[in-house]
Amino acid sequence: MLRPIKSFDIKGQTVLIRLDLNVPILDDVIQDDFRIRACLPTINYCLSEGASVVLMSHLGRPDGDYNEKFSLMPVGEHLASLLEMPIKFSSDCISQDAIDTSLSLKTGEVHLLENLRFYKEESINDSVFANKLSKHGRLYINDAFGTAHRTHASNHGIIDNFKNYGIGFLFEKEMKYLKDVINKPERPLVLILGGAKVSTKLELINKYIQQADTIIIGGGMAFTFLKAMGHNIGKSLVESKMVEQAKNILDAARLNGKKVILPLDIVCSEDINDIKRNNPVSIREIPENQMGLDIGSKTIKKYLEILDSAKTVLWNGPMGVFEKVSFAIGTEAIAKKLVEISEFNATVIAGGGDTASALRHLNMVDKVTHVSTGGGASLELMSGNKLEAINKLET
Ligand code: AMP
Repeated sequence: MLRPIKSFDIKGQTVLIRLDLNVPILDDVIQDDFRIRACLPTINYCLSEGASVVLMSHLGRPDGDYNEKFSLMPVGEHLASLLEMPIKFSSDCISQDAIDTSLSLKTGEVHLLENLRFYKEESINDSVFANKLSKHGRLYINDAFGTAHRTHASNHGIIDNFKNYGIGFLFEKEMKYLKDVINKPERPLVLILGGAKVSTKLELINKYIQQADTIIIGGGMAFTFLKAMGHNIGKSLVESKMVEQAKNILDAARLNGKKVILPLDIVCSEDINDIKRNNPVSIREIPENQMGLDIGSKTIKKYLEILDSAKTVLWNGPMGVFEKVSFAIGTEAIAKKLVEISEFNATVIAGGGDTASALRHLNMVDKVTHVSTGGGASLELMSGNKLEAINKLET
């Protein structure tokens, strides 16, 4: 059983919290602080309960060596401004100085450690490194859902060193929606799949071909299905190795009486950077020299009608190349409809890095039921897989 942070008496304790503060940074400026904000409820709870906190996280992939580009220092500064208080920062994770700073924290103080991935030992789940990390606190809390599919020292090996360990509010919320709610959904349950590839979402499709009432497919992955149905897809994105699988999925859906809905029309162009949006063409008329980059108006209308009656929606993957204004309309239309049905009590859960960034781009993150902070981890949990870090927390 996962132990929620509220089940511990943390007053006067130093709580060591693994967070996922892996945010995009350009020239020391944080481009999107969604993940940092998502950690605030757990930190604030600890501080209001009279604990002190030590925070640790990874940032990017520095591959086990110090690299200033991946320093958590800008994250620390931003966190301090969000918390409206100064925080202590150590430029490493396991030195005696850093540990002494943690041990001498007063009630209500915060100490952030430098990037865990400056140590090779982190990614290989080294037990000596994990033991050293554990010296920073008396109670261990994991609130880094985004790394739950990894077996690293800070989210796996470290647990062997604690009598008391559990999960923070963000982790709890992710588990509630991505596991409990979607395993007992109110019906109709609609799965919306998009994005680039079928292969990364194959497990999800195979699971929901049984469980969902309808699966809507858009984005680049739709073309592998359209090809499997014998359509000419021009220069559109295709995973040739997945065409056979796509055929099997469509056959399985037919056998199970499930609806897999594919685009009716497509907005195409010769150039992904095209600043104009061409008129949509039928899927039977995709020009040989063009690629499909967004769903067309007939498709949008059909998808919105299906969503109108949905009671639970799971969304993973944009409907087109949403990063380009000309091809963002399909994704925007779906997002707006999801906000609308959320207001009428449908449960809308969005997962996957690009889906979350599309919603953030549209300022809609707080307007649907739950937007996962995890990419790979949310995909795996939704697919019904066991995640190593979760197994360990359950021991
Ligand atoms: P994923 O990580 O699999 O969810 O893929 C997200 C990416 O898929 C985004 O960067 C989109 O630009 C891209 N994408 C969506 N639709 C298309 C399309 N029709 N052709 C090419 N790429 C697409």
